[in-house]
Amino acid sequence: MCAPAGDERGTPIGAAAKRPSRRGRGREMASVLTQLVQELGGGRIRVVDLTQPLEPKTPVIGLPPVFAPSPPFSIEVISRYDERGPAWYWNTIHLGEHTGTHFDAPVHWVTGKDLPGNACDTIPAHHFVGPAVVIDVVDEVARNQDFLLMPEHIAAWEGRHGRIPAASWVLLRTGWSRRLDPNEFLNVRQNGPHSPGFHKASSELLARERDILGVGVETVGTDAGQAGTFDPPFPNHTIMHGAGKFGLTSLCNLDQVPATGAVVIAAPLKIVGGSGSPVRVLALVPA
Ligand code: MN
Repeated sequence: MCAPAGDERGTPIGAAAKRPSRRGRGREMASVLTQLVQELGGGRIRVVDLTQPLEPKTPVIGLPPVFAPSPPFSIEVISRYDERGPAWYWNTIHLGEHTGTHFDAPVHWVTGKDLPGNACDTIPAHHFVGPAVVIDVVDEVARNQDFLLMPEHIAAWEGRHGRIPAASWVLLRTGWSRRLDPNEFLNVRQNGPHSPGFHKASSELLARERDILGVGVETVGTDAGQAGTFDPPFPNHTIMHGAGKFGLTSLCNLDQVPATGAVVIAAPLKIVGGSGSPVRVLALVPA
C-alpha cells in the first residue's frame, strides 16, 4: 500500500517564470521529460553508477569497543530453484542501516533528532533528486591521508566554477574508492582510522551559507577517520544533520562526474523511523 503523496511538494528547482497558462507550463515540462528520455536513449546523457558492490566483505565503520558495533552485511539463500522453492530464487539479507554505499538521514545524529522530516520515511521525496557539484582533492589526499577540506578550498573551487547552488549535493572526490582492500579502505592504525573529510568550518559554510542538500564522500563515513578526536567529535555529522542535511558515503566513480552539471538520484529505503539506508546512487551526466 502506498500512502497518498499529498504531503509531498513538487521539485522546487528553479523559480517559476511567467507562463501564459498552467496547461502551457504542463506541456513544456512534459517536453523536458520527453527530451530527457530521448537524451538518455541516445546516449547523450549517461547514467553513472556511484555505488559500491554490497557483499559480506563490504567494509563497515569501526567504533571504539565501548560503543555497539554495526554488523557486516550477510546474505543467505531462502531457496534457489530447489526443494525449498523449485521455480524461484531469493535471499535473506541482514545489515546495519549504514553499510556500504548508504544514505545518512538527519535523525542519525543527536543534533538532528527533533527536526521535522528527519527520517528515511519522512524526508520529502523531492530531496532524493538534486544537482551535484564535485570538489576534486585527489592530489591533496595523495599527499595527506588526513586531509580536511577547508573553506579556502571551497573558495578556490567557487572561483573556478561559480557559487555552489543551494539544494545541491557536494561530492568530495578523494580517490579513496580506489582502495579496494577493506583494510586499506578503513586504514586503521594504532591511533585509529585515517581518512580524509571536512573541517568543521567547511561543514558550517556548506550547511548554513550554501544551504546544500548534503555531502557525499568516497570514504566509509562523512567525517574524517580521526574525527572522533575532533572538537566537537564527528563535526560533519554534528553540523550537517543538525541543519537537516544528508550524507552519502562509500561512493565511487566520481572521476566520471563533472565539477558541475550532474544530477544525482539517491533514494533511501522507506524504513519507518530509519536513520539511514543502503542506497543505489546514480548520477546523470552529459556524455
Ligand atoms: Mn552513515
